[in-house]
Amino acid sequence: MTARGLAYLDVRLTGGRLMTEPMPIPVVETDEVRSAVGEPWESAPAAQQPQWRAHSDYHRTCAQLRDSDPLVTPTELDTFRTWMAVVAGGQGQLLQLGDCAEGFHECTPAHTFAKIDMLRSLAVDLAARTGGPVVPVGRLGGQFAKPRSRPTECYGGVELPSFRGHMINSEIPTPSARQHDPRRMLWAYEASAKVTRWLGIHRDRGTRPSSVPSGPWSSHEALVVDYEASLIRRREDTGAAYLGSTHLPWLGERTRDPDGANALLLAAVSNPVACKVGPAADPVALVRLCGLLDPDREPGRLTLIPRMGRDPVSALTNVVVAVRRAGHPVVWLCDPMHGNTVTTRNGTKTRYLDDILAEVAGFRAVLERYDQHPGGLHLEVASSEVTECIGGRSVPNEDALAYCYTSLCDPRLNPEQARQVLKAWAQ
Ligand code: PEP
Ligand code: MN
Repeated sequence: MTARGLAYLDVRLTGGRLMTEPMPIPVVETDEVRSAVGEPWESAPAAQQPQWRAHSDYHRTCAQLRDSDPLVTPTELDTFRTWMAVVAGGQGQLLQLGDCAEGFHECTPAHTFAKIDMLRSLAVDLAARTGGPVVPVGRLGGQFAKPRSRPTECYGGVELPSFRGHMINSEIPTPSARQHDPRRMLWAYEASAKVTRWLGIHRDRGTRPSSVPSGPWSSHEALVVDYEASLIRRREDTGAAYLGSTHLPWLGERTRDPDGANALLLAAVSNPVACKVGPAADPVALVRLCGLLDPDREPGRLTLIPRMGRDPVSALTNVVVAVRRAGHPVVWLCDPMHGNTVTTRNGTKTRYLDDILAEVAGFRAVLERYDQHPGGLHLEVASSEVTECIGGRSVPNEDALAYCYTSLCDPRLNPEQARQVLKAWAQ
């Protein structure tokens, strides 16, 4: 039994009281306890994890999450999986979009309904351009944890831990606000619960346009293993495990190691799952990851999200050829954002619309050359007129970035810029 398993038992058997040291306790053979220990991801290496296990609330927080309701239901996942299979079969498009990092302060009805409206309206736009159904998925209802390329960042000459998303720390640049705090997992859970409920209200409305026959669905990067592992649940009908935190969890570019904890965790759940693929991806390792996540070669189970940069052709070709040869019927989703991030002379992170449009065109060309269905787009888009990416009438140049830059992390398109990307995609 792992030390973590012991400590977990300890909390449960002492009625929630926290002892300072985990103490060995005879194994209690219940299903609940068995499922909490000895899982493959507990002993696997995990990149990009928060440093918070020594915090006095760590074990109590995980235990509380384990006892909480799942945020998505098996019935919803069945419906979502059916639509993902339609996309995988070339009969529709997936449109996944939202913030790079959601903020707790925006988990209000007004902000959330604005984000849902934006997602809906762009899905209707894409459906009109492509002539088939579009499945809308938000980076919404749980996108609270960020991997970062550097563990620290500098503010006025002071080196601080990097901002890692509201599930882990605060963006306020002070040493105390940047501490990793496990209680933030509970706030993230409560915020996700609200947003997921509002997504459900929209999904259940009978007035959907026929071009957007399902959704909106939730998604986020399944980065924090403590959080995601605490939200694995079992279906009552089949006993199959599913991830109760979101409809579509994805693996980020930095955590897609097939031997790593994040990949092993997603392999163990029955949700549709996705994975980012950057230009450095080794096609052999990627095929191994596909085998782990999609052993049954099931249409709609696995979505691959290449994010190769402005000239994606050679890296993407290697990946598409290898995955096609291995026979995985994946959804190919184009993320033209994350390979195109640049920093301006005064240190602002941005992206050029021209680079994004070039990647979209290169992506389609490769997929079509190898007879694969271009399954849709993954974009970072704000619901308001932000000025974070350069291009189009609204943000003609670098100077215009100063007007309205509110992203907590990466620069997002505004809705007008996003429409230009949809147009280029559908051409
Ligand atoms: C992201 O989607 O915000 C992200 C960090 O992407 P990637 O893992 O592709 O870098
Ligand atoms: Mn991002």
